Amino acid sequence: MLLKLGEIVLKGRNRQQFERILQANIRAALRDVGVPADLRQREGVILLRVADGRQRGPAGWARAADKIAERMRDVPGIVRVCVPVRVPKTPEAVSAAAMGLTKDATGTFAVRARRRDKRFPLTSGEIGVRVGREIQEAHGLSVNLSRPDTTVFVEVDQDEVFVFTEGMAGQGGLPVGMSGRGVVLMSGGIDSPVAAYRMMRRGLRCFFLHFSGMPLTGPESIYKAYALVRGLDRFQGGSRLFVVPFGKAQQALKSSGADRLLIVAQRRLMLKTGEALARRLSATALITGDSLGQVASQTLTNITALDDAVRLPILRPLIGWDKSEIMDEARRIRTLAISELPDQDCCTLLAPRQVETRARLDDLHRIEDRLDVDDLAGELARSAQEYRPENP
Ligand code: ATP
Ligand code: MG
Repeated sequence: MLLKLGEIVLKGRNRQQFERILQANIRAALRDVGVPADLRQREGVILLRVADGRQRGPAGWARAADKIAERMRDVPGIVRVCVPVRVPKTPEAVSAAAMGLTKDATGTFAVRARRRDKRFPLTSGEIGVRVGREIQEAHGLSVNLSRPDTTVFVEVDQDEVFVFTEGMAGQGGLPVGMSGRGVVLMSGGIDSPVAAYRMMRRGLRCFFLHFSGMPLTGPESIYKAYALVRGLDRFQGGSRLFVVPFGKAQQALKSSGADRLLIVAQRRLMLKTGEALARRLSATALITGDSLGQVASQTLTNITALDDAVRLPILRPLIGWDKSEIMDEARRIRTLAISELPDQDCCTLLAPRQVETRARLDDLHRIEDRLDVDDLAGELARSAQEYRPENP
């Protein structure tokens, strides 16, 4: 199988690091599938060979290959996954395979052949002409060599011939781990899982931190966070979810007179807790699903007041996204249905009727001083329960 790599712009040491981390991630993902395979690095592609399936038989081999191909589509750093058809070294077998691969194609096509073994009876030019003519006659497609809708690749190797098309789209982006580690503030909502996904795809290994309203609410939001992390785990593997019961701290903020500032004060305490946890996990960034102006707590003034709460950078990949764009992405990565399940969000629990849209730092600092909020954040981080939701 051919795994085409993204970010071709990377050069030198970055490129080597990209390949090394990606190979390790591919091996980890293959362990989930439980099929042994061998990896070889080539220019811009990784060749993955499923271990010979003599005991498995051809049908078993094809099933294993399909399973691996599906799995590889979720590994960030891989742009496309092609599963070549392996055929004997005869022109007839090559034609038959090419016809099979194009039977559902529409529009235009091109054949690109490469002959590594010069003993093959046809030159690469002749393969292109012959296979092209047969596809044209059988399926009524027309040839377009400069911008084809479908390309059929034929690679004549020493022992066999590989025939394949562009294959299936992967996630693209960078291999997880290449950009370091971050802590995602993960609600049960729509935005934060999408934010996590976007950062994993830029190479960040993500840890997840969820605040439940317990003991003032039930555990429903925890189930949602767990299910969301389990779904997202297929993009990175080995995910860890930390759950902090936040109800008492929210009450304390409320009694210290936060009032209209309660939402921003709560969010700041969440971030400070995230920072304490990040220190423990050697993570160097916090990630949230904030989108500018989406709700009253996400005005520019309030976002600035959140940045003031911590030293670590807060990454907000969705800051410029519309809700409809976020929902489309959530649907694509299959988190939307879970996010839309009902739960009691800890933030709406004690929410004031009016939310301050222009939080003043002086006021926030005054409330926090009364509570020794930095100690409180450390305690909350220590009280976190850890889960390891793994992708089934
Ligand atoms: P989401 O859909 O991600 O919940 P939202 O539009 O509902 O986002 P808010 O609820 O205001 O927006 O939250 C903004 C961000 O704050 C979230 O994207 C998330 O990163 C963080 N956050 C909010 N509530 C929680 C929570 N209970 N636990 C952890 N993080 C939270
Ligand atoms: Mg929310």
